[in-house]
Amino acid sequence: MKISNPADGTVITEVTADNATAVRRKFELARAGQAKWAKVPLKKRLAAIAAFRERIVAMQETLARTLTHEVGKPIRQSRNEIKGLLGRIDFFLAESSAMLRDEKVFADAGQKLEERIAHEPLGVIANISAWNYPYFVGGNVFVPALLAGNAVLYKPSEFATLTGIHIAELLHEAGIPRDVFVPVIGDGATGAALLRQPVDGVFFTGSLATGEKIAAAAGKRMIKVQLELGGKDPIYVCEDVDVASAAAAVADGAFYNTGQSCCSVERIYVHESIHDAFVKAFVDEVRGFKLGDPMDESTYIGAITRRPQLEVLKKQVADAKRKGARLLLGGASVKRKGNWFEPTVFADVDHSMAVMRDESFGPIIGIQAVADDEAAVDLMNDTEYGLTAGVYTKDERRAKRILSQVNAGTVYWNCCDRVSPRLPWSGVKHSGIGLTLSTYGIQTFTRPKAWHLKAG
Ligand code: NAD
Repeated sequence: MKISNPADGTVITEVTADNATAVRRKFELARAGQAKWAKVPLKKRLAAIAAFRERIVAMQETLARTLTHEVGKPIRQSRNEIKGLLGRIDFFLAESSAMLRDEKVFADAGQKLEERIAHEPLGVIANISAWNYPYFVGGNVFVPALLAGNAVLYKPSEFATLTGIHIAELLHEAGIPRDVFVPVIGDGATGAALLRQPVDGVFFTGSLATGEKIAAAAGKRMIKVQLELGGKDPIYVCEDVDVASAAAAVADGAFYNTGQSCCSVERIYVHESIHDAFVKAFVDEVRGFKLGDPMDESTYIGAITRRPQLEVLKKQVADAKRKGARLLLGGASVKRKGNWFEPTVFADVDHSMAVMRDESFGPIIGIQAVADDEAAVDLMNDTEYGLTAGVYTKDERRAKRILSQVNAGTVYWNCCDRVSPRLPWSGVKHSGIGLTLSTYGIQTFTRPKAWHLKAG
């Protein structure tokens, strides 16, 4: 399998993908490894993950450069991602002991009865990952899964393979056995082969189209399945904001990681009384974003990781123009080697347009004027997705009233494109099922076993 640099189209290296036989062997290895790993005391598992954290700190510049090289992410954003992973590891290290401990939930001395819950590992899990934040979407799964006593068959995206290999090496150096964290290398065909193994759970991050296939495969087998899928995340800007600072914050939410975040701002609604001022400030902000070599410290807009996405973006632009949207900035791919698209801003959009309905997953955004809060809520909820949604206003009560009516897994007041290890990360509707992060995101890798204990 060729690994290419999306910023210039050059082949970085070639790796051997796992075929169906290799995947089966890896599953058998992990099955045997898990039985031993589940017996390792939690203290030792915690120590191995703490050592993994230290290895990441020691290697962070190399890891950041590899990530930038293979996905085209600006180098500063690669460093941010790795720092973010450290925070998540700290959270899991701090909270796992309490979450994995047996719980006594009832005791009756007279009846000599006790009821307890034990948090047993699921067994061998498949962790099938996306490329856009490989340290985040991978780490949200494999760190708590390993702590809980599972073996992990980790399939990094074919667009973030070298990062996946780095992760495996560092975990192994840190003391996680090779038969407990097992990288599975390849594309969708390898992922499909992995799902044909009798795994005990599948934790997937990626597109809705693949998520549907994963759910169908898992459904037949009655195994635990979690799907973290796409979004079409809205922001509503009320008329009482400081226009310049709201425009700057929302522009960052839309264009960070070149718009290739599951929780990127993908739709903007602005109160009509500040619409023109907001649009001007927003376009000024986006004009200041530097597109260029992802290794350059000053670059903010990097490459489009997957080449086919350029076609999706071009189609959204053509569709919006045809239906009467006003193109204010960008609108085309950039003529240079590799996969590039100009930061693109539309005004006068509506929900007949793909740019306001379908996940763009790139540097393109539509801004629509709304008359009042009710209209904004209706539009925010008019989507197949439900990952995040946000409101910018000075009025806390108004923000809470609006956000309580929005059907999304995460809501933001005066912030956006933000993930916290302390809060559950989940979506509604086509944004997925299940969750990662928070203390729930530790117990999700366990099977709560009910003990009814009656002394004879
Ligand atoms: P993708 O669906 O193309 O691929 C995801 C993974 O699935 C890859 O590892 C791929 O090799 C594998 N795969 C593909 N076909 C398969 C099959 N038939 N069986 C098993 N595995 C298969 O998605 P992507 O392009 O890597 O990621 C982008 C998508 O991920 C976007 O929609 C984005 O919104 C979403 N995402 C969601 C979250 C979240 O937390 N909700 C986070 C990051 C990304």
